[in-house]
Amino acid sequence: MAADTATAETADAGRDFIRDIIQADLASGKYKEIVTRFPPEPNGYLHIGHAKSIALNFGVAQEFAGHCNLRFDDTNPTREEQEYIDSIQADVRWLGFDWGKNLFYASDYFDRLYEWAVGLIRAGLAYVDDQSQEEIRVNRGTLTDPGRNSPFRDRTVEENLDLFRRMKAGEFPNGTRVLRARIDMASPNINMRDPVLYRILHATHPRTGDKWSIYPSYDYAHGQSDAIEGITHSICTLEFEDHRPLYDWFIEKLPVPSQPHQYEFARLNLTYTLLSKRVLTQLVRDGHVSGWDDPRMPTIAGLRRRGVPPAAIREFIKRIGVAKANSVVDVGMLEFCIREELNRTAPRRMAVLRPLKVVIENYPEGQLEELEAVNHPDDPSAGTRRVAFGRELYIERDDFMENPPKKFFRLSPGNEVRLRYAYFIRCREAIKNAAGEVVELRCTYDLATKGGNAPDGRKVKATMHWLSAAQSKPAEIRIYNQLFAKPNPDASNFAADLNPQSLEILKDARIEPAIAAADRNEAMQFERQGYFVRDMDSAPERPVFNRTIGLRDTFAKEVGGKG
Ligand code: ATP
Ligand code: MG
Repeated sequence: MAADTATAETADAGRDFIRDIIQADLASGKYKEIVTRFPPEPNGYLHIGHAKSIALNFGVAQEFAGHCNLRFDDTNPTREEQEYIDSIQADVRWLGFDWGKNLFYASDYFDRLYEWAVGLIRAGLAYVDDQSQEEIRVNRGTLTDPGRNSPFRDRTVEENLDLFRRMKAGEFPNGTRVLRARIDMASPNINMRDPVLYRILHATHPRTGDKWSIYPSYDYAHGQSDAIEGITHSICTLEFEDHRPLYDWFIEKLPVPSQPHQYEFARLNLTYTLLSKRVLTQLVRDGHVSGWDDPRMPTIAGLRRRGVPPAAIREFIKRIGVAKANSVVDVGMLEFCIREELNRTAPRRMAVLRPLKVVIENYPEGQLEELEAVNHPDDPSAGTRRVAFGRELYIERDDFMENPPKKFFRLSPGNEVRLRYAYFIRCREAIKNAAGEVVELRCTYDLATKGGNAPDGRKVKATMHWLSAAQSKPAEIRIYNQLFAKPNPDASNFAADLNPQSLEILKDARIEPAIAAADRNEAMQFERQGYFVRDMDSAPERPVFNRTIGLRDTFAKEVGGKG
């Protein structure tokens, strides 16, 4: 269990039971080269759980000088689409992994799988069952009751061959017959109770078109595809543990070219997050989010659009490690990795999300000056830039309080604060509209404090960001919060657990010109606010920025000077 708690201590281990097995297999000479695969079904976009599987499969292949295949498990044409195939390839690449020439599709093996099924029939190990789906389900039994043999179980080989050929030829409607393995209806493992190998499905397949009217089941296609590709370690999630005897049964009974082994690891679960394609598909279809790449989605496409760097995802996966027991990782761990990476790489900028106008009464009308601002406090090589200062400024609305509580050190009537990179200012008066809301502050500045320090040594307790009213530009800013309001949302009734405050849109934000000029992939820190990236909804005169993540400790940032 300890190895599965997502703590930083397990991170640098860089070893886990899968890597131990692979190392031992190479050391003993069992394999000369290891081959793994990542086998997505193209029925949705990839999510951060898949990133764990991708990083594991591609990662071990890299570390042990083997290779990893990308194989589409495209055995169900009713749910699969080209859009998903394309997005999966783009996402794996973006995460930083490369399958080289090793791109495969289970559908490439349909002919061979069919021939092997015919072989099973000839050996008396498979039969065509005419029971309805419901009858098959009922007769399969339960964990406590054995199953019952199908009345069609003892058909002759000739009859089975004829029926299976006619299933393939498209003679029968959907759902009227299946091909089943003939194993053991009393097996304690339900997966071994004559599992379905083929079902009739009159559907057009994205790759094989209308060639097939029967499609193999996951269990029948998966291990055989592994064997065809010479996969040595077939790594999958724990829910397939009970399928392993069946996996091995096929490998033993069929004339496959190699003998892969299946190993299971714990899937990634995250607090405040649901990682099930069924749920994610429904979130998109029902319009709870704007699409698969909505920045609130745990999809790779959503994380990318939100501004999460791929290096942060890789670091997260490394830190959580690989274990054999299921657990739930705190989403804070992912957020920590995102902040760490962005803190290191993102240039600092100033933006005012909810502007409040400030007039510096003793600053000359019409005058503008340029002050020097640091691009990265920990990286002098990032240099500096110039920001304009003038008589009219914007500050953050919640940096002012008319009647401040005791510990509020930011602007209030009579109080003095530092404007970052600029001067001390003191608030003289708050101007209100008819409704009694503060709409403008009248302040004075102290010319002698240029650069941020008073020659007489007097101190201020807050440093605030600001922008020149004339030089700043308008922008829309989208603030994202958890999509679900509960740490453990209910997958079977997820709509009830959605967070009504998951998206907040700020339409009147102001940004400095350096932000307006940033390209779409450039992550930036807006000082005291968090990390942001330009969204693809931006128009030239109306840029839109997504908040990737807030700063952990905004209060400390206010008091300290460091952005
Ligand atoms: P569903 O969520 O509907 O069960 P899936 O996520 O298993 O579907 P696949 O396309 O079959 O969809 O997944 C591809 C691979 O990713 C599989 O090997 C699967 O075990 C792995 N995988 C899926 N979800 C996770 C997860 N949360 N953590 C780690 N690996 C995962
Ligand atoms: Mg699956």
